[in-house]
Formats: sequence, structure tokens, C-alpha cells
Amino acid sequence: MAQLDRRTFLAGAAVVAFDPVTSHWLTSFPENTSAIQIPHLDGELVTDEQSLTEAATDYGHLAHRRPRAVLRPGSVRDVATVVRFANEHRLTVAARGQGHSTFGQAQTDGGVVIDFRTLATIHEITPDRAVVDAGVQWLDLIRAALAAGVAPPVSTDYLGLSVGGTLSVGGIGGASQHFGLLVDNALELEVVTGEGRLVTCSADQERDLFEAVLGGLGQFAVIVRATVRLVTAPTMARVYTLTYPRITDLTAAQRAVLADGRFDYLEGQLVPTDDDGFAFVLEGGSWFTSAPPDDDVLLTGLAPSGVDVVDVTYFEWLNRIYETVEQIEALRLPSPWLNVFLPDAATDEIVTELLTTLTPADAGGVALLYPTNRSLITRPQVVVPEGPVFFLLALLRAVSPPDDAEAERLIAENDALYARVRAAGGTGYPVNALHLSPADWRDHYADRWPAVRSAKARYDPRRVLAPGQGIFEAVSRASGTP
Ligand SMILES: Cc1cc2nc3c(=O)[nH]c(=O)nc-3n(C[C@H](O)[C@H](O)[C@H](O)COP(=O)(O)OP(=O)(O)OC[C@H]3O[C@@H](n4cnc5c(N)ncnc54)[C@H](O)[C@@H]3O)c2cc1C
Repeated sequence: MAQLDRRTFLAGAAVVAFDPVTSHWLTSFPENTSAIQIPHLDGELVTDEQSLTEAATDYGHLAHRRPRAVLRPGSVRDVATVVRFANEHRLTVAARGQGHSTFGQAQTDGGVVIDFRTLATIHEITPDRAVVDAGVQWLDLIRAALAAGVAPPVSTDYLGLSVGGTLSVGGIGGASQHFGLLVDNALELEVVTGEGRLVTCSADQERDLFEAVLGGLGQFAVIVRATVRLVTAPTMARVYTLTYPRITDLTAAQRAVLADGRFDYLEGQLVPTDDDGFAFVLEGGSWFTSAPPDDDVLLTGLAPSGVDVVDVTYFEWLNRIYETVEQIEALRLPSPWLNVFLPDAATDEIVTELLTTLTPADAGGVALLYPTNRSLITRPQVVVPEGPVFFLLALLRAVSPPDDAEAERLIAENDALYARVRAAGGTGYPVNALHLSPADWRDHYADRWPAVRSAKARYDPRRVLAPGQGIFEAVSRASGTP
């Protein structure tokens, strides 16, 4: 989804009043004593059919919760104004970056969605950091940063995600083995808390709030602006695609190269084969600007059954799947994704077991499997398995042609696999199509749950924010208590 210019919406019918008795937003001020004028906004609040329908779906096309209004903020102040208004009138608010959630995480039933595509300015790029609005897509930031010879140290595989949306979940990629997640590379945030306070936070200032928000699934504050780390960028990437006959050969090779850190980028895939099975592929990348890397050194001891080596520009590599995803997205296929973090010790057993039933059709084509180092993941809200190494397993399922029953079957499979992963000490990477109750979320956070609950009480006491995650029960409108 592209960035939008707020001016393209100004012709739409903007909200001017709110009726707290019926919870309806009004585009004209009626002779109705219960209606109240909404505060001044630099952007606009809209209730047109197209905006509400768009905000009631996401990349997954599985959950549909319809808001009553959509804010297209014209300023940071608009976000604070609407969150405060929501507090006064017991409304819920869901920030929406690019809506690339798969199960309604950025939706709200009857509340207000804040569409961050209109708050998407890159304010500053220096040799070691960028200051950007939360609605900026990584693709735009990376383009601008590379023009200055710098780039974020870690990127997600797909760059059409917003800075605010990814910093709310974590942000993992093939360079996480060396640099942690996107959240580990966030230096400072400007946020609007659930009560509507605009606060700047970092490791040195309001640290508790900073750590609550990074990977905090939108529960405590809305990110409006972020300062993120940049490093000197290479110009080229040499990419090695190493094929292995068995899953355990792949994971053994991945563990070896993770341990010695020889690649700048490390991922891996289960790739569909002609006989309806999978081939096992290690994807290693080595960045360079002048002299290319030494293939013999990089391939020492790896013994793949097939090797493919290509050189591409660094930008082409970072942006390698953008077009494909745009084409898939246009098909609007139900996409019941499952992303889990597996403890190293259980990975071979769980994936081997999974492969006895998993078909390429059920996996949505390519599935991702790669290890990373836990010690670099420093933000407390990101829940990962114990042990120095864990693997990401990502089933990027898509139901084609769309079929509700088939989507439900795959979500039920997600539920079962998630239970198996939890029992083995694994965790969910919370971007999934899963049925999670508040009790399941308590189980997810485990020892951290008291801290999560108390951060919610401190920063979003009326439980206004991000109801689509389903972590907390709604506050009772009658009593005002949880
Ligand atoms: C094609 C595709 C590829 C992906 N690849 C990767 C990958 O390589 N690595 C990876 O880690 N993840 C990946 N993801 C998952 C992705 O990081 C998350 O789904 C992310 O939340 C999507 O970003 P978004 O801007 O669309 O967020 P949204 O879906 O809009 O929002 C996600 C959550 O964050 C909240 N939120 C959004 N903006 C803000 C804000 N400004 N402040 C506070 N809360 C906010 C929302 O309310 C919601 O709860 C991928 C997803 C897709 C669809």
C-alpha cells in the first residue's frame, strides 16, 4: 500500500461533531443537544464507506472489524487530540501503519483507526541515524538513506511495512544475527500514551515507557516519530543459495555459519519441489563495496548439494520481494500466517514432524526457517525462547482461490502447531492468524505478564489502544473499570 497524501482526502466528508449518546460521528452539526463539536484537527476524521471498509480489513483478509471513523492525521498533535477525545468518550483507537497484519491486529470494532499513511515524513538522515514519522515505509527510508551512503543495519524481508507497525512487533531479518531486531536499533521515540500525553522516550529518558512501547503491540502508546540507527551501507551483495537434501543438513549448516558469523545475512527456506515436497535452502549474503568476498572461504565446510551465487546491488537485495508481495496482495487472498520462534534444541524435531504433513499448498509456497542469536535481542517486550540460539519458522499461508472453510482449517492448524511450539518452550512472533484469548496472552508473556499488566494500567488505563490484539479485556463502559 502506497503512502497517501492527506490532501487527496480533503474533498471527503469530514467529521465535525460526535454524539456521545449514540457514539456516532457526524459530518454536520445538528440541532441536537447531545452532539458535541470535535476538537480542531490539522488533518481530518472521516466516516465514508471506502475508508471504513479499508480500515476493516488487512493483509490477512480474515478478520473484519469496522471502525466508526478513520483519522488521517495532519500532525502529531492530531494523534494526541483524538486519543484524548477517545479517553473522554470511552472509544477505542487502533493505529494502522500499512495494515500488513494478518488477523485484525490494527483494527477496532466501533472505534477510531489512525491511518498513519498521512504522517510519513522523513525528517532527518545523518551518518548514524534517521528521524522519521511512524507512517514512513522502510522502502522510502532505505531509498533516502542509501542516497546518503547509509542504511539501517537490519531490514525485514519486505520493505512495504511502516516504521511504527514494525517497531510495535519487533522486526526480524537476515541481519538480525549480527544486529538484533529493528526494535534493538531504535534510539528514541516520540509517542502518544493511551491517555493522550505526548512523550519523548529513549534508554536515557522515560526508559520504562520506551521499553514498554518497543515490541509492545501498540498497547501502551502510539508511536508518532522514531529515531533509528543507521550504519555505512555497502553497495553490493553477493548472495549464496545453498541447497541441502534433508532438513537436518540445512539446520546443521545454518548453526555452523551462525556460530562463526561468516555471512552478513543469514536466512533459510523450505522451497517447494516438483514432487510436492520441499528442498532445503540456506540463503547467505555477503556485502561488499569494492573487492567481492572469497567464495572458497565463505563456503568452507558447508557441503551443499547445490550452489548458486549471484551479485546484485545492495538495494536490489533489500528490496527483492517488494514487487512479488504487491502482486500477491492485489489478489486479496486470505492469508493465515504463522510465525513462531523455536528453541534451538527443539527445532529439528518440530520441523521434521511438521514436514510429515505439511504440503507446499498449505505452506503458501516457500516457508522460512532460520536461526538467530538471542543475546542481541534486548527489548523486554519481545518474547523469545531461552537459550543462545532460536529459529524463526514462518508459514506464509495463502488460500487460493479464497475459501472460508479452508482458511479456518489452516487457522486451526496454526492453533495446534502453536500449542506444540509452546509446549516445547517456543514462542509466537505476534503477527499471526491465531485464536489467542487473554489467557493465552498471559501464557505468552509468562514471567513478564505482571510488568505488561502494570504498564497497561500506567500508560493506557482506560484500555483505549490496539484492541485488535485481544490481549486485554475491554474496560466496562458502565463502570469504567477493567
Ligand atoms: C508481506 C509481509 C512480509 C513481512 N516480512 C516480515 C519480516 O521479514 N520480518 C518481520 O519481522 N516481520 C515481517 N512481517 C510482519 C510485519 O512486520 C508486521 O505484520 C507489522 O506489524 C506490519 O507493519 P504494518 O505497518 O503493516 O503494521 P499494522 O498491521 O498496520 O499494525 C500492526 C500492529 O501495530 C500497531 N501499530 C501500527 N502502527 C503503530 C504505531 N505507529 N504506533 C503504535 N502501534 C502501531 C497496530 O495497531 C497493530 O496492533 C511481514 C508482513 C507481511 C505482510
